[in-house]
Amino acid sequence: MYKMSEKPLISEKRIRERVSTLAQEIVVAYDFDILLSALTGAYMFTADLCREIARVQGPAAIQKRIAFIKASSYGDSTESSGKLQVQGLERINLQGKKVLMIDDIADTGTTLLGLLDMLKNAGAKEVRTCVLLNKQERREVNVTADFVGFEIANEFVVGYGLDYANDYRMLPEIWTLQEAN
Ligand code: 5GP
Ligand code: MG
Repeated sequence: MYKMSEKPLISEKRIRERVSTLAQEIVVAYDFDILLSALTGAYMFTADLCREIARVQGPAAIQKRIAFIKASSYGDSTESSGKLQVQGLERINLQGKKVLMIDDIADTGTTLLGLLDMLKNAGAKEVRTCVLLNKQERREVNVTADFVGFEIANEFVVGYGLDYANDYRMLPEIWTLQEAN
């Protein structure tokens, strides 16, 4: 059994402020063609980040495309199954495109590394990655996200799109899940 931390790990306000500065960092550094988001965990972050990027960029954002894939490696547990499954990539034309890949969290790094490989194989000209959260301590493969919202410790987090067995996704803040005994 798990229970939520008493206070959010990251409040709505801190998320809003960081997403805004992150959008500025991205716009300055990388003129991408298509933003590719990994469902389901990154849905809320993606929606907020897109709006901030458009706010910073103005009319130049009109031609930026957005597409979604479904990436899963977790079952109903807090440990990765280690197997990456990706759906929907075959419908998206990445040939010669500069891609900004968005995911919720880099944990072992397996997902990010696997996605980078697949997007390159799909013909992308360049791929840079952006994650809302990074757990550096848990890294098992050699991969670094280009843009990171927050560095966090080795804790299991939920909310703001992130789930535990599909619960908690709608919460506007990020919470830590602790073992209840
Ligand atoms: P990785 O492949 O880097 O080990 O794991 C990446 C995926 O695992 C993320 O996209 C996310 O779905 C899931 N994940 C890793 N850590 C957490 C966490 O603390 N909370 C939640 N809800 N999902 C996590
Ligand atoms: Mg995920």
